[in-house]
Amino acid sequence: MSATRVRMRLAGLQIAVVALALGECSEPVPASRRSVVLVTLDTTRSDRLGAYGGTAVPTPNLDRVAREGALFETAVSQVPLTLPSHASLMTGRYPASLGVRHNGIYRLPEDVTTLAERLAEEGFETAGFVSSFVLNRGFGVEQGFERFDDVPVDRFQGNRDQLFEAERSADDVNEQVFRWLEERDPDRRFFLWVHYYDPHDPYDPPEREGRRLHGTGYDREISYVDSCFGDLVDRLGEADLLDSTIVVVAGDHGESLGDHGESTHGVFIYEASTRVPLLVRAPGLVPAGRRVAGPVELVAVAATILDLLGLDPLPEGQGPSLRPRIEGDDDGHDATAHAETYMPRLDYGWSELTMVRDGRFKLIQAPTPELYDLRDDPGETLNLFQEDTERGERLAASLASWAKTIEDASAESQASRTLSAEEQERLRSLGYLGGEFSATVGEGDGIARPDPKEMIAQLERFLESRRRLNTGDALGALEISEDILGEHPENHQARVTRILALIDLGRLVEAEPVARAHVEATQTDPAASVALREGSLELMATVYRLQGRIDEAERHYRLVLDLNPDSETSAVDFATLLLESDRPAEAREIVDAFLARHPSSGIALATRFRLEELSGDQDGARRTAAAMADARGGDPEALIRASRVLSQHDPARAAVCLEVALAALAPDPALLAQLGAVQARSGRLEDARETFLAASRMAPRDPRLQYHLGVVALELGDEKEGRFRLEQALRLDAGYREAQELLRRLEGS
Ligand SMILES: [Zn+2]
Repeated sequence: MSATRVRMRLAGLQIAVVALALGECSEPVPASRRSVVLVTLDTTRSDRLGAYGGTAVPTPNLDRVAREGALFETAVSQVPLTLPSHASLMTGRYPASLGVRHNGIYRLPEDVTTLAERLAEEGFETAGFVSSFVLNRGFGVEQGFERFDDVPVDRFQGNRDQLFEAERSADDVNEQVFRWLEERDPDRRFFLWVHYYDPHDPYDPPEREGRRLHGTGYDREISYVDSCFGDLVDRLGEADLLDSTIVVVAGDHGESLGDHGESTHGVFIYEASTRVPLLVRAPGLVPAGRRVAGPVELVAVAATILDLLGLDPLPEGQGPSLRPRIEGDDDGHDATAHAETYMPRLDYGWSELTMVRDGRFKLIQAPTPELYDLRDDPGETLNLFQEDTERGERLAASLASWAKTIEDASAESQASRTLSAEEQERLRSLGYLGGEFSATVGEGDGIARPDPKEMIAQLERFLESRRRLNTGDALGALEISEDILGEHPENHQARVTRILALIDLGRLVEAEPVARAHVEATQTDPAASVALREGSLELMATVYRLQGRIDEAERHYRLVLDLNPDSETSAVDFATLLLESDRPAEAREIVDAFLARHPSSGIALATRFRLEELSGDQDGARRTAAAMADARGGDPEALIRASRVLSQHDPARAAVCLEVALAALAPDPALLAQLGAVQARSGRLEDARETFLAASRMAPRDPRLQYHLGVVALELGDEKEGRFRLEQALRLDAGYREAQELLRRLEGS
């Protein structure tokens, strides 16, 4: 027997032994042929799932995965915020190492290797589908995905808060996912990431026919997500993919639901917002029904998936594979897990929180540290730090030394940045008095910041003011924010709300001095974050722009862009201001400088497209329109015009532009008709038929839609339907020449 054949026989034997050990009858699919599906459930507490003992609503589909795979009873999210948590999950690195600590103001750096990039290198077809703007293209988690499907938004509508609330339902995401599953290359393995956002507030799951939901409020969202997840699992099963796929389900963070006074998540790192579901199903690789009790971290997910595939871990990954914990007897009661939140500091100038826990005890590092015995006090109601100082200090020391080992000094931190002497001088030249602009804001800078637990009541009132602002009640928002400022004049966010409310109410004369005071206050407050400081200058620029005070607006925009050339809103608003002031060349310079850094920024592309249209640069406009299609971005109005520019020579991209625009608009039969036409011209006849059908349901008496439906049916080879539609067109408009002619040709043939 040759050496090769001996090896082959031995390999076969090993597989058989493993299969036996796992209690499998049929031979499992080898790791080298496995695909991966990663499902992230936003804002999902583990205790809401039946498999974790939840009883509020049935979650049969998630429970099934737990039953047929492994369940981690104590899975800990590293940060209770969507983008940072996903960044950790996708890279296997802690937030402190990545320097990604909040939504919106951070981007996952390009040079970091993601799980998707790694799997793409291995030949996997990669596709990511997200359902919150917070994870949209541009924030960095799209790295490595050949297909990245994100949330359509209209950035010219609404304010920043509303933009960040843009989301889509699990049903809408599934629709795209299922289409991709049909279109993907069946000969390639795949890595599919699906992100469901629904449990995030507001708690209002879509009610659809045929979908039975249980419970109310947050629980109803859980019920909805479980049901949609079930549809995905069914699809994989029908396509015969389920058992050759490693399915991983993880929550990105939990939800406080009033626990410790917090309504949602982000400020605290108590169990309510850090404990998440983590399930792994991979028949033949992961034994069914396995439950791992001790703490594990989401940062280990990437390494675990790679390990199950037989691949090396990510080079800079910090979380070890959980495979030994799945396979071994060691439940890891001695293991530790970590979490942090910098949201209090970045948004409000309060102290950040960090924590370490083992199987039983948990320390939260804060101005007043907290120690809990989670076994006897799972609700974290009794702070033992004073009583058991020795244990508390031991955990604090281990947390501090751990932090040193994982923090990357080179990871750029929004929390710390120095204002140069020149920048300080420019602030003074803009009329700000501050003799003492705080020069540095560092990590361990010794500045005493308020403890978030002391501030939570104020925060809830502030959130109420924001809710009112975003639902059109600017007056209500103004009242609450002025109320807060009366008691706490140092509350920067309340001041921001006051300014935004005054802008919404058109009271710009009042807004101006408040905005000036806001710049002054944030620049001189050593606890204010860089994001707050830049935001204050941008807000001032906005007030001046709306007042028509071009020079002052311009000087503020230029300072913001010098401080932060990545500020998309400033670049676009400033360019628009220049354009409106008849300075197109300068507008172009600003937009191009931004696009050089962020070539797929839809909103910046849309601004360049407008400039090119205005200057009559048709070639440029066509190129930019194509780039908008590829980036799937821009505002609806620009996208609609871009589709017209492309419709003759590039109908495929013209269709994409209209699809993206329509996703952000109320349905409109005329636009749908345009979309159907370019879809048909780019050979997507089935899609064209669907589109024309949707249009004709809205405008049943439009003869042109019947005519187009007829043409598409004929092209699809359905002569009966084609004839019927053409006759319909003639019934609605007896003199419809094209319809008459086509019917005559059909008779003749
Ligand atoms: Zn989230």
